[in-house]
Amino acid sequence: MPTDPTYLIVGASLCGAKAAETLREEGFGGRVILLGSEAERPYERPPLSKGYLLGKEDKSVIYVHEEGWYAEHDVDLRLGVTVTAVDPAGRTVTTADGESIGYDRLLLATGASPRRLAIPGADREGVLYLRTVGDSERLAAAFRSGGRVATVGAGWIGLETTAAAREAGCEVTVIEPEPTALYRAIGAELGEVFADLHREHGVQFRFGESVSELRGAGGRVEEVVTSSGAAVPADIVVIGIGAVPNTGLAADAGLEVDNGVVADAALRTSGAGVYAAGDLANSHHPLLGRRVRVEHWANALSSGPAAARSMLGQDVSYDPVPYFFSDQYDLGMETAGLPEPGTYDQVLYRGDRPGREFIAFWLAGGAVVAGMNVNVWDVSDDVQALIRSGKKVDPARLTDPDIPIAEV
Ligand SMILES: Cc1cc2nc3c(=O)[nH]c(=O)nc-3n(C[C@H](O)[C@H](O)[C@H](O)COP(=O)(O)OP(=O)(O)OC[C@H]3O[C@@H](n4cnc5c(N)ncnc54)[C@H](O)[C@@H]3O)c2cc1C
Repeated sequence: MPTDPTYLIVGASLCGAKAAETLREEGFGGRVILLGSEAERPYERPPLSKGYLLGKEDKSVIYVHEEGWYAEHDVDLRLGVTVTAVDPAGRTVTTADGESIGYDRLLLATGASPRRLAIPGADREGVLYLRTVGDSERLAAAFRSGGRVATVGAGWIGLETTAAAREAGCEVTVIEPEPTALYRAIGAELGEVFADLHREHGVQFRFGESVSELRGAGGRVEEVVTSSGAAVPADIVVIGIGAVPNTGLAADAGLEVDNGVVADAALRTSGAGVYAAGDLANSHHPLLGRRVRVEHWANALSSGPAAARSMLGQDVSYDPVPYFFSDQYDLGMETAGLPEPGTYDQVLYRGDRPGREFIAFWLAGGAVVAGMNVNVWDVSDDVQALIRSGKKVDPARLTDPDIPIAEV
């Protein structure tokens, strides 16, 4: 007798949970198994460096679904289960406790992990990373008024954590080898907007310096030694030097891996019946004409469902304009597109950049390729539409705040 097909999802976070939801919404009647290493049911990570870290939001805000949702939707959620091997030929996975689980279709949504600092003293007590809810709780407990915090890395996680540490009353020094904050994410000019914001909140920066050693006594960190030889006193060191995709399972299974698991626009990997989505996937992006791996919340939210539809045999071409948001102190921003260095030749502004109420547009060949609205709201959809259109724009109209973006 034929059995119900089993669709297995490895990685029970935002991407995996949204994929499970979509399978049921689309009427899939087979088995849905969602396996995750963490003990918590699927949750969202943005609050971990913002409201939840600041103690302003309750833990209930982080979860993707209510506790009872999985059983109600016949999703077999198994927490604390790590998959250690995938056999695409035999269509089975093996878990850490030796269980073998068969599947008809497999979605890999194993996400990413913090890049580790590999220098002497990096294993000292007081050296903290931020990825999981437990990490966030450890940081919240460590940020005490008057405490000295050194943040390694002026990227999004480093800066949001810095803002939380300042709001908790800590003295914070940020150490970053690039010339300013967010340099590789948004370029020097925009990076300075964020560096100034933090300076105004009393944060010290050491740009152009890397970290060479974490020194201390009795196993605890006490100071950060930088490449210039300076010693920055620190009770807590927060490492925010990026994330690396969790590709080990896929690589061991012989799937194509290149800065993530390689996938086509339908999120199919090189393995028959195996799909990849979320932070893990480096998928072909038809709009951008190249492969991209996007480590953003909105991508996890929408690529999980796209992969689920693809698993169901629907025609999927996954190509949203990448979208990201951040909150630091009283600054809120949204970015559409990927303003990576080398992808644009001009940056134009609409609004008040010094007053931090503006929209920045990155252009290539006269067309908008990315946009960032800072303390300006309800424009991101129009910015995304402008990017998607690929049309050349009139700079005077683009920068005129009286002309709606939809009419530029
Ligand atoms: C602190 C923080 C703040 C952020 N803030 C923002 C923000 O403001 N805006 C924004 O756009 N993005 C933000 N992001 C990024 C966003 O959270 C990620 O893009 C998103 O979490 C990716 O979701 P995912 O499901 O693909 O992967 P992940 O969230 O990484 O989840 C992958 C899951 O798979 C599990 N797993 C891994 N390997 C295995 C295995 N072998 N077996 C079983 N389970 C496994 C992991 O334990 C994990 O639970 C933030 C990220 C962090 C860490």
